[in-house]
Amino acid sequence: MSSRVHNFNAGPASHPLPVLEGIQAEFLDFKGSGMSVVEVSHRSKTFEEVIEDAAARVRRLLQLDDTFHVLFLQGGASLQFAMVPMNLLPEGRSADYVNTGTWATKAIKECTIQGKMANVVASSEDKGFSYIPKEISFSPEAAYAHITSNNTIKGTQWTSFPDTGGVPLICDMSSDIMSRAFDAAPFGLIYAGAQKNLGPAGVTLVIVRQDMLERVPKDLPTMLKYSTYVAHSSMFNTPPCFAVYTIHLVLKWLEETIGGLDKMEEINREKADLLYRTIDTSEFYRGTAETESRSVMNVTFRLPTEDLEKQFVQEAAQHGLIGLKGHRSVGGCRASIYNATSLEAVKALVGFMEEFARKNG
Ligand SMILES: *Cc1c(COP(=O)(O)O)cnc(C)c1O
Repeated sequence: MSSRVHNFNAGPASHPLPVLEGIQAEFLDFKGSGMSVVEVSHRSKTFEEVIEDAAARVRRLLQLDDTFHVLFLQGGASLQFAMVPMNLLPEGRSADYVNTGTWATKAIKECTIQGKMANVVASSEDKGFSYIPKEISFSPEAAYAHITSNNTIKGTQWTSFPDTGGVPLICDMSSDIMSRAFDAAPFGLIYAGAQKNLGPAGVTLVIVRQDMLERVPKDLPTMLKYSTYVAHSSMFNTPPCFAVYTIHLVLKWLEETIGGLDKMEEINREKADLLYRTIDTSEFYRGTAETESRSVMNVTFRLPTEDLEKQFVQEAAQHGLIGLKGHRSVGGCRASIYNATSLEAVKALVGFMEEFARKNG
């Protein structure tokens, strides 16, 4: 498939090629059903096996014990910004939030919009969200503490998760879920829109701990309650079947081809190190995130001028290197190097960056 480019898009983003080929191969006749996966009933045994196996693989990959429920929702991470306080922040209590960028800011807004108390315990806004705050004092009485594990736009990432002293952590892991192994025990809820590191847009992975469900108010609309998804194994209504099916194949690839999250993390580190080394050893490129807060998933950098940045993005595209423009809110350049972006793709990008710097530096 020589017509395929190296894809550095931030989301929707690249998928593992064997997954796309697998979809293509069985698209017209799914598992001998004589129907496409987009045509089978979501209540059929065929599809039930897919969604159950997807959840089982999430469980195995993240080593979740049975206090956790693995759910598939719609509405993206953005709906979770609202559903988290709606379900988990009881009347008269407050929640701690750490503001590390655009997405965290939106999460805070969706809490306050409901007239609920979001207590911003730390923020990196003073330096343009270029770092992850340290030594945060979380409130012992907070209903939960909300963080964003990877800041897709600014290219910062928590290297380890903060100690909240027993207050349940709630985490937006949209752009780094399944990129590394971590201990899930301190988390009350984890959510991730699929389109960065899990599969196609249209489905959101939610992992919720059993004790959190006791807080869900009875008077919420059915579709906005986590307990509905738990009670109906994510099938109260029609789930996004095709997206769930694709996630299932991506997780299978992670387990069986890559060999799990430790191995995935090793590969991801190698890719990120290669890019950051290229940036650090050049006078031409400048990383925008503080060194110790740098993301392994989204590498953000600037060139000497905005004109050169524009030229860089254009010429890169001519070389089959796609999606290197920074987020429209911040400008500059960004290479998103999620799980599915190969080491070969990163090597091709590094080669191009070195040549571009030589020609234009
Ligand atoms: C992309 C992104 C979002 C928004 O996701 P939607 O699924 O489009 O709502 C939220 N948080 C983070 C960290 C993201 O990267």
